[in-house]
Amino acid sequence: MKNVVVAIDDLHPEQGWGCEGDTQVEYLSALNDQYGVKFTLFCPSYYHHQYKLTKDWVSYWKQFDWVELANHGHYHDVKKSTFDQMGEQEFLELNHIEATERVQESLDVWEQCGHKPKGFRSPGWGITQEAADVVSSYFDWVAQHELHNQSINFGTQNFIGCDGIHESENISLYGDTFMFQSHIQGDWNDNVWSEKNYLHFQKVLDYLLSQYNELQFKTISEIE
Ligand SMILES: [Zn+2]
Repeated sequence: MKNVVVAIDDLHPEQGWGCEGDTQVEYLSALNDQYGVKFTLFCPSYYHHQYKLTKDWVSYWKQFDWVELANHGHYHDVKKSTFDQMGEQEFLELNHIEATERVQESLDVWEQCGHKPKGFRSPGWGITQEAADVVSSYFDWVAQHELHNQSINFGTQNFIGCDGIHESENISLYGDTFMFQSHIQGDWNDNVWSEKNYLHFQKVLDYLLSQYNELQFKTISEIE
């Protein structure tokens, strides 16, 4: 028996980025209908200082038992002066005190929306050890990158694996789990939920189903 996890990053309340009626959201719902795919959605709580999570938006996703909402930082952004070097790696510029404040700000927003996320993935993967210590004390698990976070110790359960939904070769098993990674949108990523990738991912699932007698679709929190 193998597990299949599909993670999606960057969802927030902006049209095209994970709202009811978005084409991408219809693809996810169709994959759940057809295959029983479950999704772990990594959501920044105040994306680019512009899109704060809302109770309506969170409630929309919470109605589905095939969806888990996880924490993906607060601003998904860095101070503008460091932008060139760091992209949007919010937790790569935070010390222990700053990370504690940031996580608390984020969790306050989540609480106002009626949800307590169990898991965390750092925006852009990067994180300082001090911020990793903080994150580990707040979350049950962290989705980390086996190379980018190589020198970082997380003091909580952690999961690796990030095979793109657009890939077809070298798909890896991590223990008993296939870990697919994607982004809801964005010009800078190949693994977005475009029609092309949606159709491709159906072929990947058909292939895996032909190779394994039983596949179990799970959210990350459901992995043993
Ligand atoms: Zn992200």
